[in-house]
Order: sequence, then structure tokens, then C-alpha cells
Amino acid sequence: MIISYLKKYIILLLNKMIIPIRCFTCGKLVGNLWELYRNMLQEELNKFNNGEGVSSDTVRSIESQILDKLEIKRYCCRRMLLSHVDLCEKI
Ligand SMILES: [Zn+2]
Repeated sequence: MIISYLKKYIILLLNKMIIPIRCFTCGKLVGNLWELYRNMLQEELNKFNNGEGVSSDTVRSIESQILDKLEIKRYCCRRMLLSHVDLCEKI
């Protein structure tokens, strides 16, 4: 009973914290933006797939626009979110 509760808690904790908390290069806090980034990206992709909300900016990708909105400007920090793969949910 207690062990299964602990397992659930640890999985929950890992789900929230699997992305590195800070940028490896400059140390900027990026771990707290992961959920927001993922939700915004999903929202934009849904809009794009439904054919609505196509932005006038055709040069920059959706990911790039979202990272700009989140005020992540340095490329060292951008790669932290762009290259992150959420493996924990698939295990
Ligand atoms: Zn950085």
C-alpha cells in the first residue's frame, strides 16, 4: 500500500522534474517553463491542424514564436526546451 503510494508519488515527481531545472550553459531557470511551453505548443499545433490561426510569420517556426513569447532568447536556453524528450510518460 505504502510502496504503491510512494511509486505514484515518485512518478508524479519525475513527470514534473524530468527536464533539467537550469540551462546547462548559462544557468537560466528553464525547468518551470516546460509545462507552459508544451501546452502552448499543443494549442498552436491544434490550431494549425484545424487550418485556423495561421500566423503571418511564415519564416519562423511555431516553436520559435512560442520561445520568443516565453522570453527565452539565448540559443543555449532554447535548445534545452527544443531538444527535450519527455520519456517519463512513455515508460
Ligand atoms: Zn542558457
